[in-house]
Amino acid sequence: MGQTVKNNEMQREVAALAEKYGLAPGQVTGVLLDLGIESEGGHFEADEDVFELVEASLEEHRGSKEIAMLPNRTPRDIASALGVPQQEVQKTLMMKLKVMAQLTTSLKPEVAEQLVEQFGYKVVWAEASKPKPAPPKPKRPHKVEGAQPRPPVVTILGHVDHGKTSLLDYIRKANVAAKEHGGITQHIGAYQVELPEGKITFLDTPGHAAFTAMRARGAQVTDIAVLVVAADDGIMPQTIEAINHVKNADVPMIVAVNKIDKADANPERVLSQLPEHEVVPEAFGGQTIVCPVSAITGEGIPHLLEMILLQAEIMQLSADPKGTLEGVVIEAKIDRGRGPVATILVQNGTLHLGDSLLVGQTYGRIKAMTDYLGENLKDAGPSTPVEVLGLSDVPDAGDHVQWFKDERAAREIADSRQEDRRIAGLTTGKKVMSLEALKGMLSEGETKDLNLVVKADVSGSVEAVRGLIEKIENDEVDVKVIHSGVGSISESDILLASAANAICVGFNVKPEPGAKKEAERRKVEIRTYNIIYELIEDIEAAVKGMLAPKFEEEYQGTVEIRVVFNLSRQGIVAGSHVTDGKITRNSHVRVKRGNDLVYTGKVASLKNVKQDAREMIAGQDCGIQFEDFTAFKEGDIVEAFDIVQVN
Ligand code: GDP
Repeated sequence: MGQTVKNNEMQREVAALAEKYGLAPGQVTGVLLDLGIESEGGHFEADEDVFELVEASLEEHRGSKEIAMLPNRTPRDIASALGVPQQEVQKTLMMKLKVMAQLTTSLKPEVAEQLVEQFGYKVVWAEASKPKPAPPKPKRPHKVEGAQPRPPVVTILGHVDHGKTSLLDYIRKANVAAKEHGGITQHIGAYQVELPEGKITFLDTPGHAAFTAMRARGAQVTDIAVLVVAADDGIMPQTIEAINHVKNADVPMIVAVNKIDKADANPERVLSQLPEHEVVPEAFGGQTIVCPVSAITGEGIPHLLEMILLQAEIMQLSADPKGTLEGVVIEAKIDRGRGPVATILVQNGTLHLGDSLLVGQTYGRIKAMTDYLGENLKDAGPSTPVEVLGLSDVPDAGDHVQWFKDERAAREIADSRQEDRRIAGLTTGKKVMSLEALKGMLSEGETKDLNLVVKADVSGSVEAVRGLIEKIENDEVDVKVIHSGVGSISESDILLASAANAICVGFNVKPEPGAKKEAERRKVEIRTYNIIYELIEDIEAAVKGMLAPKFEEEYQGTVEIRVVFNLSRQGIVAGSHVTDGKITRNSHVRVKRGNDLVYTGKVASLKNVKQDAREMIAGQDCGIQFEDFTAFKEGDIVEAFDIVQVN
């Protein structure tokens, strides 16, 4: 009699059999496949008495180290075949075989074999019984008319001396195109690597200061950040800063664990440190790709580049070479012989020799255009960095580039922008964040976020301040510490604050002189404190000030007016009895006569016989006067309530 065994029941059965015969689960499945027991749509079809045959066959295989496998296995398949956790397989792949792969990536046969060997088994390749259907091609959800894939733009960040420059140099030197030109490249602030699988544009100024300086000017240039962490040093303060800068920019990050050639390299330590900073490697079940590399020997670098391209593919980066020109200035300088020189990264459309441009507050026509090899170019498409000559003045890094049909029109706008800047000083034109300014911004419905950069003298106070700030809860304003650290407020803190429209808060620390200047220039508010509660109170007050206060009525009690006294000295008094709850001398009241509301207002005086009373409770008699209301009558009912702020 045929029977259907549910997949998970089968898995349990397989695991039990594997244990009984000292085999891996995959070996048991192999035996099952040999016996013609196949999985169909999540179910296994099997005859009951087949299990006897299964047991006999397993007995033959007892203790065997050969494991039958179908081609195109993924790390996940291999983990389940070996009966080991997926993370273990990924860790082995990365640490022992120096291969980075997603759990669902098909492995090359030789990699799968080596991987399985690491666990003490040998692969015997089985024929695929049915060809796998090709996976459906991912759709491009926001495909713009004419949009085409474009190379990713990558920035390298990390702690000083962890090898950012070395990595950029190695990648540049190993670039085929550069070799053809005798390895001579020009420093133009960015370069492009051409691999068989695609191109990658690297920004040549490593570090988060440059990265965030661009963002502070409103230019999000980087598509993918590569965080370099030296395997012999581990995560250091600037690594954490870089992580926070990248997170704030919402840019995907790939971690390059560098210097694995060194004797004291400990890549596993880096791997285990990353989750402390909310960067969870794939090997630990997270999303972050981690690549072990050496910028000296070049080991692992091809793989890193492959992963960058993979990440780019996932992001489906695209631009329209025929679309509107968009570009950003990466770097600019004045050259004695050539005049203003600017490196422009084309983001959309195509830049042509002879184009008229408006670039920030300057303008001009492109007289010459070269790539990072010094080659003359006539056209440059999306993600291409080019050095251009012909601008009338030196633009700023981060300035946007616009195409103009007519150079005169570009000039007029550039001139008026210069005038604006002259009038406005050096402000960036955006609304400046300060605790005082928050209230106004909120009432205009502009912001509900309060971003803070927190610096303190010792890590204990960083934690304390952070902890208290994070406790400031509010449904309408999101208070977020986007970066915190030990040490004085630095220029890079100001840049991050400027990019994130944040306020810099220092506890027992002061801004560095450079930071102070930068803060003035970028209009970033710096607040320093020596008393922790003052700091918290100020932020709390600002956050509360950000809210239009909300009030609600809170029921206090019910009072019946029983006698109306007309006293010569006091005037008309309601002789009353509290029937429920209480009434206070500050109560708000509603006076009802039957179903009619005859008065809404406040208590003016409350007396217990002749004495002023603070409050009277149920069962007590009292004399009440109301503000501007004396027309009450016997039998009127008074409802007492309070008005309380609920935020
Ligand atoms: P940056 O400050 O992050 O740009 O670091 P550098 O690229 O200047 O590198 C700092 C030092 O580390 C230099 O002496 C490099 O030669 C060395 N270095 C960088 N990468 C590696 C590597 O992969 N292996 C070894 N052994 N040394 C490296």
